[in-house]
Amino acid sequence: MRHFAVVGSGPGGFYTAEALNKAYGDGARVDIIDRYPVPYGLVRFGVAPDHQSLKAVSKRYDTTAETAGVDFIGNVTVGRDVSIAELLDLYDAVVLAIGAPHDRKLGIPGEDLPGVIGSAAFVGWYNGHPEFADLAPPLGGTHAAVIGNGNVALDCARILSKTRGELEGGDIVNHALDALEKSPIRTVTVLGRRGPLQISMTPKELGELGHIEAATPVVDSADFPGVEADEALEPGQRKSVSLLREYAANGPDPSKATRMVFDFYAKPLRIEGDGKAEKIIVERTKLDENARAVGTGETYEVPASVVISSIGYSTPPMEGVPYDVRGGKFLNENGKIADRLYCVGWARRGPSGTIGTNRPDGYEVAAQIEAAMAPGTAGDRTGAGGLKALLSARDVMPTDYDDWRRIEQTESANARPGSPREKFVRVEDWMKAVGR
Ligand SMILES: Cc1cc2nc3c(=O)[nH]c(=O)nc-3n(C[C@H](O)[C@H](O)[C@H](O)COP(=O)(O)OP(=O)(O)OC[C@H]3O[C@@H](n4cnc5c(N)ncnc54)[C@H](O)[C@@H]3O)c2cc1C
Repeated sequence: MRHFAVVGSGPGGFYTAEALNKAYGDGARVDIIDRYPVPYGLVRFGVAPDHQSLKAVSKRYDTTAETAGVDFIGNVTVGRDVSIAELLDLYDAVVLAIGAPHDRKLGIPGEDLPGVIGSAAFVGWYNGHPEFADLAPPLGGTHAAVIGNGNVALDCARILSKTRGELEGGDIVNHALDALEKSPIRTVTVLGRRGPLQISMTPKELGELGHIEAATPVVDSADFPGVEADEALEPGQRKSVSLLREYAANGPDPSKATRMVFDFYAKPLRIEGDGKAEKIIVERTKLDENARAVGTGETYEVPASVVISSIGYSTPPMEGVPYDVRGGKFLNENGKIADRLYCVGWARRGPSGTIGTNRPDGYEVAAQIEAAMAPGTAGDRTGAGGLKALLSARDVMPTDYDDWRRIEQTESANARPGSPREKFVRVEDWMKAVGR
């Protein structure tokens, strides 16, 4: 019998467990270990609550978790409750699928002022991540700004702009729903250092902006090169740019009170305010011949009492695991870190791609493990038995998939009308729901 540990129960972890289970069948036990008693990683804590259909991918993960030979071990933080070296003693192979949960810093003066928030924190707050339950973002001003030109920036801007009616059918948590409803924010400026042709926003997300009940996109036609420039773009990007061109041509809808202003060629220099964020000082940029943003020296102010920076994420380093400081991820070659130690998902590639992009990672790493230790060969590691003994000696209480099902049932029972669940936002409440 082989024993494999997959650390992290987001898409990367689940696709790896699925692939290992398919390759080894009864010949291996796969333990998916997560720091929380609730699985799915960013499918629960990242994907926007008003995009419920995307969260349905978790059904596939449930099938994997319920397959004989696969176990979920929640409430165990690797690196704190058990080390990588210990896992390597207990398991034939260890796959790190811990994602990239840390916000990258802007690296500009004023970013530590109250009111400046990373998107991981802001998204975690409205999605019920226990680390950010007490964030209380200052939403009391009329102006907000989001720094970044990717889909996560767009998620943040959209959530700030939607009405309670538009949000309450999803699984946004009540504390966020109430705070957003009360917020007088009427201008959300989305700042990007480069131009509309360099965005990393997808057509579905951009298209939705034309249908928000009380908000309208504001895009300046002067920001676009001639339409012939779009021919060089790949089809998805061309569609995104066409949508922006359309918004620019139609102009903002004057009947809608909230404006989502796309400010391109805008490089934040510093954030200023009297003890809290009040405005961003921005330098106008232009593109050089390699489409890089270069400052023009012209500066202006963007008022914002809440500033959400959405410029990327990094994986935290772990003791004993080689780390790529520049890339903010584990040092690896096609997912291999060292003998019997691998990584997948954002911890392998960095924070890019969709949920589905993580699938080939998992399958590729499973194939490497299969090549190194052929199915049918025996190992002499103790796997979950040894891990549980070690955790018990340390007073760590692991949870299992049945516990998660109990939490899920309680969350569904607590849901407001029309919403699939009301998430618990405290670890203690999860543990209470499972009788610990
Ligand atoms: C705000 C946001 C919105 C997104 N929206 C979409 C979308 O609409 N559509 C789409 O296709 N993609 C979307 N994505 C991308 C998608 O979520 C990622 O591609 C995917 O979640 C990455 O999977 P992962 O397994 O690498 O990491 P994660 O999903 O982050 O999973 C990591 C897991 O590891 C666990 N973990 C972390 N540290 C430890 C530790 N020390 N010990 C044990 N467990 C640990 C975490 O609890 C978590 O469960 C979004 C991403 C973000 C940030």
